[in-house]
Amino acid sequence: MTAIVWLRRSLREYDNTALVEASKRHDEIIPFYVVDKNYFDKAELGYPRVRFWRESLKELKQSLKSQGKDLVIRNGDPIEKLEKIIEEKSADKLYFNRDYSPYSTERDKEVRGLDLEVESFKDIVMFEKEEILTNSGTPYKVYTYYKNKWFDYEKPRPQKPEEYSVPDIESEKIPSLKNLGFEKPNQTEWIWNPGREGGKQRLEEFEEKIWNYDEDRDYAWKDSTSKLSPHLKFGTVSVREVFWETERIKARNPDSDGSGIETWQEELAWRDFYFQMLWNFPESGEKALQKQFRDIEWRSKEEAEEDWERFIEGRTGFPFVDAGMRQLKKTGWMHNRLRMVVTSFACKDLWLDWRDLHDYFSKMFVDAELSSMIGGIQWAYSIGTDSQPYFRVFNPWTQGEKYDPEGEYIRKWVPELQDVPDEHIHRPQKINKLQQENYGVEIGKDYPDPIVDHDEMRQKSTEKFEQARD
Ligand SMILES: Cc1cc2nc3c(=O)[nH]c(=O)nc-3n(C[C@H](O)[C@H](O)[C@H](O)COP(=O)(O)OP(=O)(O)OC[C@H]3O[C@@H](n4cnc5c(N)ncnc54)[C@H](O)[C@@H]3O)c2cc1C
Repeated sequence: MTAIVWLRRSLREYDNTALVEASKRHDEIIPFYVVDKNYFDKAELGYPRVRFWRESLKELKQSLKSQGKDLVIRNGDPIEKLEKIIEEKSADKLYFNRDYSPYSTERDKEVRGLDLEVESFKDIVMFEKEEILTNSGTPYKVYTYYKNKWFDYEKPRPQKPEEYSVPDIESEKIPSLKNLGFEKPNQTEWIWNPGREGGKQRLEEFEEKIWNYDEDRDYAWKDSTSKLSPHLKFGTVSVREVFWETERIKARNPDSDGSGIETWQEELAWRDFYFQMLWNFPESGEKALQKQFRDIEWRSKEEAEEDWERFIEGRTGFPFVDAGMRQLKKTGWMHNRLRMVVTSFACKDLWLDWRDLHDYFSKMFVDAELSSMIGGIQWAYSIGTDSQPYFRVFNPWTQGEKYDPEGEYIRKWVPELQDVPDEHIHRPQKINKLQQENYGVEIGKDYPDPIVDHDEMRQKSTEKFEQARD
């Protein structure tokens, strides 16, 4: 009996649930991947994410080949390509891992029409939407309660696939980035090591940092987080694998304070929390979760053209915000603290439409994940579940002073402020002409004046939210 394992975003062999389960029951397996034309036509994609995906896919194929197996690639419509291979190879069963975005769930409904037995598995999350529910059986909308159960429940462990062989089948080429329509933007620096090996290395390197994660994670200038997000996105490492690895680290050092590890594991719970939110409330991809705020009129990027451009270019005149936006542009990644600060700024200082921000982030983030992104944006915009209250507005200066006290992060990403001393780095507009000359920066020319009056905008935005509530 031949099985097809349709791989999508779990780009690894180890602990790939669909593959593991298929290998328990079949000697012959066709690992199958379709470069989904429909997705490429529709999604907001960008260079960092597509390159990360492509290199991870390529590495998986090479790794399987080096073991005498293969990953069979086809380009086009996934259902058509599946129909074809099922017919060509008289396959008996199709296995795949479930995905939870609105696009994937719609696409996956179509496999029911295929002429063979189909089985799908939980793989990309620790717990699925019906596994953690309130005592009355409804989805959790408040993270803390969800998290408490997430920690209490027994978690699945990673598994290795059993021996299997792959029949000799012609495979198509993975299209080049150029053929897919992506070229490296001039400003981008490639800092990623995609694929399984890159993921394992990241995890290993993080081992030293995890102990202080609870204390360090918010400090943008410290490279203190795991940067595993694109690996978790593309499944080059599994969520079970990283969780249990951190448990092992804890067990190896029983006398050490494990609060850094626990705080990091809480992030995995956030990830699951947002997955179940999007799965339970798919409309949140396009609408505010809080109905009272659905009719707010945001400024579209066309309407707010100049502000929009200055915001995405990191030229708002608020150094911490600008540093975040420039880190994103350069690397395809932004520190979580900055994701919160810039998003709050886009909302409460610039009143930009969150859907435009979502499209921009989707293009720019190497780790763009619809559920976490919608969760994060709606949190900062005060329109989602368990969000920042609308009257609590991040102050872009004090956020910088607190999380980048000596301005190291700012200096790294906003080099024109390189020589501005610590006491002025967060508000360089306050320095006089002579100081500007001394520090080699002319405010208004080399670095802009603030794009808005923050105190005024804070007031206005609170009023707008209050009006929307009436
Ligand atoms: C506006 C906004 C947009 C975001 N968009 C994304 C996105 O597109 N993709 C994405 O993976 N994360 C997103 N996040 C969550 C978070 O910022 C990133 O997961 C994190 O910065 C990735 O860096 P890391 O791997 O070093 O994280 P670590 O701090 O090492 O955390 C470990 C892992 O936990 C998960 N995680 C951490 N924080 C969160 C969180 N707040 N919500 C959900 N999962 C989390 C990620 O998978 C991350 O890799 C967003 C947050 C905000 C505020």
